[in-house]
Amino acid sequence: MREIGHWIDGKEVAGTSGRFADVYNPATGEVQARVALATPAELDAAVESAAKAQIGWAATNPQRRARVMMKFGELINANMDMLAELVSVEHGKTLPDARGDVQRGLEVIEVCMGAPAMLKGEYTGDAGPGIDLYAMRQPLGVVAGIAPFNFPAMIPLWKMGPALAAGNAMILKPSERVPSASIALAKLAQEAGLPDGVLQVVNGDKETVDGILDHPVIQAVGFVGSTPIAQYIYARAAANGKRAQCFGGAKNHMIIMPDADLDKAADALIGAGFGAAGERCMAISVAVPVGEKTADALIERLVPRIEKLKVGPYTAGDDVDYGPVITKAAQDRINRLIASGVDQGADLVVDGRDLKIQGYEDGFFCGPSLFDRVTPDMEIYREEIFGPVLSTVRADSYEDALQLIIDNDYGNGTSIFTADGDTARDFANRVNVGMVGINFPIPVPLSYYSFGGWKKSAFGDLNQYGPDAFRFYTKTKTVTARWFSGIKDGASLNFKALD
Ligand code: NAD
Repeated sequence: MREIGHWIDGKEVAGTSGRFADVYNPATGEVQARVALATPAELDAAVESAAKAQIGWAATNPQRRARVMMKFGELINANMDMLAELVSVEHGKTLPDARGDVQRGLEVIEVCMGAPAMLKGEYTGDAGPGIDLYAMRQPLGVVAGIAPFNFPAMIPLWKMGPALAAGNAMILKPSERVPSASIALAKLAQEAGLPDGVLQVVNGDKETVDGILDHPVIQAVGFVGSTPIAQYIYARAAANGKRAQCFGGAKNHMIIMPDADLDKAADALIGAGFGAAGERCMAISVAVPVGEKTADALIERLVPRIEKLKVGPYTAGDDVDYGPVITKAAQDRINRLIASGVDQGADLVVDGRDLKIQGYEDGFFCGPSLFDRVTPDMEIYREEIFGPVLSTVRADSYEDALQLIIDNDYGNGTSIFTADGDTARDFANRVNVGMVGINFPIPVPLSYYSFGGWKKSAFGDLNQYGPDAFRFYTKTKTVTARWFSGIKDGASLNFKALD
């Protein structure tokens, strides 16, 4: 069995703990490799090497660090197919979707090529007699990034790009289900000129994560994953005095107004609800048509589109729309939630539970499912299903639809389809969700903005990538400097204005 180790001090090393996690090929259901789970001693070795390397890296001027990012970006682009294949074989998503995974990570690296501008400080000359005041941004030191399974390349790149460009060293802990893309990215970063030790990939599970959270040298933790774990990590990191930003799960709604272009809305729901088997934190999992007529017309458009969806392994080529879910446990959980929806009285319009794909009978496939007449008390509404299941909650009015979203625990993304500018504007202003789409189903901000949800979708301050990430991965130091030529100032014991 192939074994995946760690990337420590610029080398791929085997794990020594004797503890492993299975890495599946979700399309076949077979274990294709096993990944080592780091011991505290391995984590210590990685942190020690990172702390040493960070000193020289922080002293490397920002423009030179940006050049490494530029080369890194070129290498990611040149190796797009190789990286996409690594993503697909461990995650199961289609190759075009896997290329998108790499591409949206690459775009964050592209913004990091402009790190010197992001890292500029502030300056006030003559703030008082002979006094100049300035503020500079300095790296934190050794920081950690902890990633989920659903974007094996993109989220590691979201974490490492800004942290490294700002002069930190990073301990990256990928999801143990999809470890290979992170190791491949670390090799490319080395080839791009990143000094050994500045990026360490430590594979592991809860034990490794707890080691990171308690490690006295690690200054900050950037986490992406499910809400209960985000909340746990935020609390433990903060209790240990670390800076933490922890992004969690989601339940994203799309309002469909009676004046919306319903064909466009239906197309958008198919892509946003079923793409990547619904395993996206920005997937739309709840459609909220306003008015019975809109709801009936929407369902009428969704059903034939859903029936046309092709589910299969990524190796089957471009006409596959989406692949398997990540594990057997995920597949079983999705099927159980669908059964609970039926039991609690929702109308299961399309049932994807019995999908079998010839030659891939043991793969973790879920056919697409569509529910109508879902109500907020049902488990399928309250839980993040994280599978190819779209729920429809019918609303009587725009106000009711908006209130439904406002009352939901999660606040990652949301969307409205309408032809009316006033309604769209009102929605964007009043909804308590971090990322809003207008006639746009998955409003993931481009990499020169920042990404983050509200409510139980994010814990801590500042968002991911873009300007916020440079703030998160740096601390500000302000300097008040006085030069005495021409200034007569006696000693004073008072706290006074600088004039
Ligand atoms: P997860 O929370 O199970 O795992 C995420 C990371 O936490 C992994 O690296 C894992 O090893 C680690 N982990 C798991 N259990 C842990 C524990 N008990 N203690 C400490 N560490 C633990 O999430 P997942 O299943 O890999 O990813 C899917 C989730 O991520 C979904 O909820 C999805 O919405 C969310 N997500 C959120 C965003 C966002 O930006 N808000 C982006 C992508 C995914």
